[in-house]
Amino acid sequence: MKGRYAAVGENFRRVCEQIAQAARQAGRQPSEVRLVVVTKGHPVEAVFAAIEAGIHIFGENYPEEGVAKMQALSGEENLEWHMVGHVQSRKARLTAEYYHWVHSVDSLKLAERLNRSAAEIGRSLPILLECNVSGETSKFGWPAWNESGWESLVEPFRQILALEHLKVRGLMTIPPFFEEADRARPFFRRLRRLRDFLTEALPQASWEELSMGMSNDFVVAIQEGATMVRIGTAILGPRPQ
Ligand SMILES: *Cc1c(COP(=O)(O)O)cnc(C)c1O
Repeated sequence: MKGRYAAVGENFRRVCEQIAQAARQAGRQPSEVRLVVVTKGHPVEAVFAAIEAGIHIFGENYPEEGVAKMQALSGEENLEWHMVGHVQSRKARLTAEYYHWVHSVDSLKLAERLNRSAAEIGRSLPILLECNVSGETSKFGWPAWNESGWESLVEPFRQILALEHLKVRGLMTIPPFFEEADRARPFFRRLRRLRDFLTEALPQASWEELSMGMSNDFVVAIQEGATMVRIGTAILGPRPQ
């Protein structure tokens, strides 16, 4: 593969090695960490290059942008598409229809709409609950920066767990961006502690997945328990303007 995406295979192998090393350092198996390659902002050529490199799990931020790529790739089999960006309620149907996972469930209303659409299609959709563990107002997600407020998440989460066509598998977060990745560590820890809290409060769900870590901080996220990392730039290069 020549051109803009020529380095994707090499980048992918390097990132896999870093993931494996971070997992082993944390006493975990490399296979416990799933890599979601985020193709948002990149053309379908990037996805072709990634498939050629052996990647088959992709993440997108905007429902339609991902669906356009899926349609352009309809000859490819066994691809898995994860919605990682904020989903407007009116895009719930499209999202439930096309995506295999939704990492970014941030309201009861969205959960109910996804559930209704999944029911109509006859699917069961695995989801994560996106939590805002920093308090940054630019971030979506359930308010979770203040541990004394976690109790107030239990009731809405209980209602989401009762939705029959959604399978709650864990939590997702986006910490603040730091040049120095180690500074994101307290936010990853907070998400993990929230997961432990929810495991006790709502044992009817599994809560095993923690989607956290991007290009700049995935090593730290894995050290803190990430089971899914969402990586774009480190594999595909910078997003075209
Ligand atoms: C863009 C994006 C990513 C990937 O970011 P990179 O820094 O390019 O690795 C991961 N998660 C979400 C939610 C994103 O929007």
